[in-house]
Amino acid sequence: MTGNVLIRGGYVLTMDSAGDIPGGDVHVRDGEIVAIGENLDAPGADVIDAAGKIVAPGLVDTHWHMWNTLLRGLSDGVPTGESPVRSGSASPGGRTSRTGDSRPPSPPAPGTPRGYFVTCVALGRRFLPGDTYAGTRLACAEAVDAGITTVHDWAHNIRGIDWAEAGLRALSESGLRARFSFGYETGHQNDHLMALDDLTRVAAAWPAYSVAGRLHLGMAWRGTGGSNPAMRVAPGLYREEIETARGLGLPVSVHACGPRHAAGQLAAYAAEGLLGPDLQVVHLNNASAEEIALAAEHHTPASVSPFTELQIGYGPPVTGELLAAGVPTGLSVDTTMLSGNADMFAIMKVTQGCANARAYDEFALTARDVLRLATIEGARTLGLDAVTGSLAPGKRADIIVVSVDAPNLGLLTDPARLLVTAAHPGNVETVLADGRVVKRSGELTSYDVGEVTRSARAALAGVLTRA
Ligand SMILES: [Zn+2]
Repeated sequence: MTGNVLIRGGYVLTMDSAGDIPGGDVHVRDGEIVAIGENLDAPGADVIDAAGKIVAPGLVDTHWHMWNTLLRGLSDGVPTGESPVRSGSASPGGRTSRTGDSRPPSPPAPGTPRGYFVTCVALGRRFLPGDTYAGTRLACAEAVDAGITTVHDWAHNIRGIDWAEAGLRALSESGLRARFSFGYETGHQNDHLMALDDLTRVAAAWPAYSVAGRLHLGMAWRGTGGSNPAMRVAPGLYREEIETARGLGLPVSVHACGPRHAAGQLAAYAAEGLLGPDLQVVHLNNASAEEIALAAEHHTPASVSPFTELQIGYGPPVTGELLAAGVPTGLSVDTTMLSGNADMFAIMKVTQGCANARAYDEFALTARDVLRLATIEGARTLGLDAVTGSLAPGKRADIIVVSVDAPNLGLLTDPARLLVTAAHPGNVETVLADGRVVKRSGELTSYDVGEVTRSARAALAGVLTRA
């Protein structure tokens, strides 16, 4: 694979001032888009035929706890008192759980504490660095497959520097563009400071981690409400945490206004002068109109994760309200423990549906609007809009090619509407991340999927055994 690629003859959704180019070519050299237009001359280029297909910017996720993809399907809880995967128990093949071919966990016993947070803490504290690597790598492979080329890894199970390095290694190997937000460990005591020394060390050594700028560092902040909803972080602690991050010049992200009792968090941050373009706020479902106006006034970006917000009962997403107020907004996977998967096409579709339902208006949010959130606007909320999120000369080559040959598409009508309402990750034929072809002809080129999933199952078996 050379660094010289021509994507030829597709319906190009630039999501930029050039608009749509039916029958357009995109020329990529050394990871950068060098030209877009009709009938481009690109001697020696590896040609990817996109005739009759949709060419679009790679999709942008803005908040994702990638490590706990290892716990997909377990948010209802696992039995306590007995390990759901017994150490050394025989699998149907007569092998032990060490191979990862273990029995599936049995349903929770009656009376078992359940739900996302309890399960996440109970199992998250049994993670070893290799488990973080296996979970993050599975998430990265899923992102590539689904056409997501930028992720915001909200790493909130950093139990020591080795866990941070494990997540960073998975991101580095993935080829994806990423923000790595260095957080705390799941279950972190609310009366203990985050590991700010480790954060400072990673920040100082960042050039060694950044893969020539493809990864950038942020902080995943507990804010006023930490891992334990029964407790609250003391102002002296949370202020020191955000001030340290800002002192290091790092962007910060915080969950705000999740459960109904947490309404008012955004107003509290505003009162303390903490809002700003470098503070991403996640889940504004229960923010008041006044709080949304405060976010807009301070150019504070928001991340909406419709599937997890619906699943956990935070209430409907308020995307239409955020956009009407002028809040920079992106979409997110959040956690596949709740969302199930990282299908950004479905995330776009449910985002549009919820917005239109709330507005009692078929046209409150158009497909184009929501595709912008999943591309250029999402990139803008991460400070990456000059680099990715649209197709234009000078930008890095984060590009997807979507085939319409499958029966769920079949027609090339309105490409934006097809992506938002009809497409799924299986329709993503080719993916370029930073100019590197990571999926081609429907197959991942950068991962041995069998090995990724086998090692994920083996890692989960170990976590469950230790739990
Ligand atoms: Zn989250």
